[in-house]
Amino acid sequence: TAISRHKSQRRLISTSNRYMTIMPAWVIDKYGNNDVLRFTKNANFPVIHLPNEVIIKVFAAGLNPMDVSMRGGYGAATMSMKRDPLNITKSGSEFPLILGRDVSGVIMECGRDVKYFKETDEVWAAIPPWKQGSLAEFVVTSVNEISHKPKSLSHLEAAAIPYVATTAWSALVNTGGLNKDNCANKRILILGGSGGVGTFAIQMVKAWGAHVTVTCSHNAERFVRELGADHVVDYTAGPVEEPLGALEKFDLILDNIGGDTERWAPGLLKPWSGAKYVTLVTPFVENTDRLGVSDGMMKTAATVATKAIKHLVKGVHYRWGFFAPSGPALDEIRDMVDAGQIRAVVEETFSFSQVPQAFEKVEKGHARGKTVVEIS
Ligand code: NDP
Repeated sequence: TAISRHKSQRRLISTSNRYMTIMPAWVIDKYGNNDVLRFTKNANFPVIHLPNEVIIKVFAAGLNPMDVSMRGGYGAATMSMKRDPLNITKSGSEFPLILGRDVSGVIMECGRDVKYFKETDEVWAAIPPWKQGSLAEFVVTSVNEISHKPKSLSHLEAAAIPYVATTAWSALVNTGGLNKDNCANKRILILGGSGGVGTFAIQMVKAWGAHVTVTCSHNAERFVRELGADHVVDYTAGPVEEPLGALEKFDLILDNIGGDTERWAPGLLKPWSGAKYVTLVTPFVENTDRLGVSDGMMKTAATVATKAIKHLVKGVHYRWGFFAPSGPALDEIRDMVDAGQIRAVVEETFSFSQVPQAFEKVEKGHARGKTVVEIS
């Protein structure tokens, strides 16, 4: 089997009195542009440190704008804080760092407390950004973050979904309060519908019966309509606040664009009805990177509280949405995928040797779905 073959391929090398193994991976040894990506056959093989962890043999890895940002150093201080809360290790100890958040693959090894999953199970997951990523032959992650992958999708297709799906789920369900039973008759606006998060979010709320309005560029209109958008506004034709303002007001806005959108978008919501504006573009990570943990957190808390109050007095809720790794959310998403309600939107696939080209593709922007790397 693939698993036993890969197990037998593990090469043991001894370092002092312990054993570790090595594997092929793309790593970075410092932050920078695409030149910092380095292929190695000698990356550290992942180790199960906690009893609820599993090692996954990676078949496909999805790329996200977050990987390009992290390659350039975005989140370095914030992720260091998550990796090493007591600040014991030296700066730069995250290197060699493996990027890649999405994984679809097969469980190769389970920690001793893992019950619901077993070796050879086909799984998918979004790996949190403070952990080593999936642009490698193997990755270790917590069992809380994984889920059995949809049977109806190939590994390549499955790897297009977890990070954007768990982000959309966290923003729309946990923060926005939506669920499959309360979306009928709701009017939802998705600002930026043609990228990874947007293409997933359109399908999800459409499956739950919402009326979906989407902004995107002219050449993406047909694409987002095919995914379920009921009404499309072309942002390349001029400012969208005017055409959007002429429409019936909305129950929820998901903002994938940020910038000046939050100046006018909350005004498109039905006031005093519990309507929410949820933006995924927040200064949380930049604040922590720039100001350190305590000052950064304080600035973040002050900013979000001020904005929330400013909008609350106008009768609408202002919220920040964040990626949240979640196996249980992926279980629900898998069921929607296998029921034919959501499809994977793979824009382009690359081989494992073409990881730098895959980063270039994501970095150019103008995504129409997802970029995925076939690992084996
Ligand atoms: P993508 O790069 O996949 O998609 C962005 C899409 O927006 C592209 O299709 C782009 O196409 C389109 N677009 C660009 N400008 C506009 C505009 N003014 N109006 C409408 N559409 C526009 O990004 P993701 O979907 O992966 O992520 C979306 C955002 O969410 C990013 O800013 C990302 O950083 C953020 N995010 C935040 C997370 C969090 O934890 N807070 C987690 C995940 C994502 P075109 O340029 O051709 O129009």
